[in-house]
Amino acid sequence: MAIANSELTESFDFSDILNRQQEQLKVMIENLYNNSPYYRQKLDQAGIKPADICTMKDLAQVPFTTKDELRRTYPMGMMAVSEEKVVRIHSSSGTTGKPVIIPYTRNDVQMWAEMMRRCLTTVGVTNTDRVQVTPGYGLWTAGIGFQAGVEKLGAMAVPTGPGNTVKQLEMMSDLKSTVLIGTSSYGLLLSEEILKRGIKESMALRLGIFGSERWGDKMRARIEENLDIETFDIYGLTEIYGPGIAIDCPQHNGLHYWCDQLLFEIIDPVTKEQLSPGEQGELVITTLTKEGLPLLRYRTHDITRIKLEKCTCGSEYPMIGRILGRSDDMVKIKGVNIYPGQIDHVLKNTEGVSSEYQLILTRKQGKDKMTLRLEIDEGYQPQTVSDNCVRNIKSKIGILTEVETVPYGTLPRSEKKSKRVFDNRE
Ligand code: ZN
Repeated sequence: MAIANSELTESFDFSDILNRQQEQLKVMIENLYNNSPYYRQKLDQAGIKPADICTMKDLAQVPFTTKDELRRTYPMGMMAVSEEKVVRIHSSSGTTGKPVIIPYTRNDVQMWAEMMRRCLTTVGVTNTDRVQVTPGYGLWTAGIGFQAGVEKLGAMAVPTGPGNTVKQLEMMSDLKSTVLIGTSSYGLLLSEEILKRGIKESMALRLGIFGSERWGDKMRARIEENLDIETFDIYGLTEIYGPGIAIDCPQHNGLHYWCDQLLFEIIDPVTKEQLSPGEQGELVITTLTKEGLPLLRYRTHDITRIKLEKCTCGSEYPMIGRILGRSDDMVKIKGVNIYPGQIDHVLKNTEGVSSEYQLILTRKQGKDKMTLRLEIDEGYQPQTVSDNCVRNIKSKIGILTEVETVPYGTLPRSEKKSKRVFDNRE
């Protein structure tokens, strides 16, 4: 089972990386200024000349790039190359407003496949593996992103895409897929289906790679136990290539990220100040080599930290911690900031609670109320589990919650992302 190793002592030497990144940054900003009318205007307006930005510290004065800007410039207003260099576009789902279109050059597509190849290699996938790719294809980055990496590595892609669980399981069993890629919700759904049908023995799975949503240790443990596999967390976002910019390694200490391609900063999501390695805040990414749509200080809204420690796996790449939640998912209740990741952590340490939960916020007579709707594992006394949960939340997060228990298997499992926070306050 994947347990985070907390006994890391050797600290990571950031000095070489920082020097290299600062050199790359100078070139990147110079190119951006010359090739992107959008950014040239933006930097001019901020009174910044490319030569002003030489260090990480200088970078702090550069304005952020937001998803809203990508939307406002829809469809291709931020493209930084001429049309003939673009070989493909992807789009992120527009749950609110216009979608975002990201153009890729040939180099971008190849670099993305290379980063994905590194991810797969990091977790131990080899050219003899058969990799079932269940994320969606099409405008979405996930399916094709994984497939390109699998092909670059020389493994066999089984590109089933999402849905049609019966067919999915048939392929998995007949082709003896060894690696399963998907969202964690879908991984859980498939694993439960495999148990329900009693077909675990006909499967050859050994690894699972799950991304595109934050998932708790409890969910992870459940998938691992159900399928008898080791699982890895992968990170990425459409705006920055897609999945594959950071991945968990077999030591499970954090997610290694490709610092030769991407510059990671952590900022305080409220004051927006740059924070030091080790401090928790929002991840901000600057692309160092991306051509089609380079991004300068892109706000991901994902909450994590750059880890200070060197990984025991010996990788030369630094790590971020697992994503704790989104700064815009952060809920403020009774004056306390809460990330869903913190709830996951407490639930993981509370016996009898399943991986699935919902957080419901209501307000009555001006008073906030938080209710946790929990699934209770079979064989546990709901009242006891509920009392323990209230106590643990109070001691770890400092807030009083009400708990509502439901039987195991009753909360929705989805093929995409599970919605967990329901803020019903006006
Ligand atoms: Zn490692």
